[in-house]
Amino acid sequence: MTTVFTDQDSTRVGFARNILESAGIACFVRNENTQTLGVSLLGYSHAAILDPALCVVDDGSVEEARALLREHFGPEVEKAEWTCPACKESNPASFDLCWNCQTAQPE
Ligand SMILES: [Zn+2]
Repeated sequence: MTTVFTDQDSTRVGFARNILESAGIACFVRNENTQTLGVSLLGYSHAAILDPALCVVDDGSVEEARALLREHFGPEVEKAEWTCPACKESNPASFDLCWNCQTAQPE
């Protein structure tokens, strides 16, 4: 299972899922309904770890999935999640700072 797309906007993630499903790629959305819960539980105005994320079930389809998403969303989908060098938490590509410890994303 590999995350191929994540966005704060669940509509965009849903659209991405439709693209992959029409291409016959098995996928599912993680955190589809947890955003409100995360805000209240964790006290963050925006909890990055709870962003809806599109996951491809079969790792063999990841490259095909990324190519399809690139066609529709442009090169920004190339940016993958990054792992914080300080605390090892994983962060969405759209975040410049670690959600956990505010360490800057390494270049
Ligand atoms: Zn960190």
